[in-house]
Amino acid sequence: MIIVDRKNCDRCGCCVSVCEADCISVYESRIEIDHEKCVSCRKCVWICPLNALEFRNENGSLNN
Ligand code: SF4
Ligand code: SF4
Repeated sequence: MIIVDRKNCDRCGCCVSVCEADCISVYESRIEIDHEKCVSCRKCVWICPLNALEFRNENGSLNN
């Protein structure tokens, strides 16, 4: 699943624009991922200019 590093995220919205599942929401102080809708494409991870997103497997290992 996608993990957000909130202290790095500046809520620029780049990840929202590439998310094909439309499952990222930007709020005033944070972003939220709807993990039920996420299709694990990782496009958000690759486009984030601040490295604020990671994709982790169910066992917790990094899989970007
Ligand atoms: S692209 Fe990165 S910095 Fe921008 S809103 Fe998404 S997670 Fe935050
Ligand atoms: S991995 Fe893909 S579907 Fe999931 S939140 Fe990121 S861009 Fe959206």
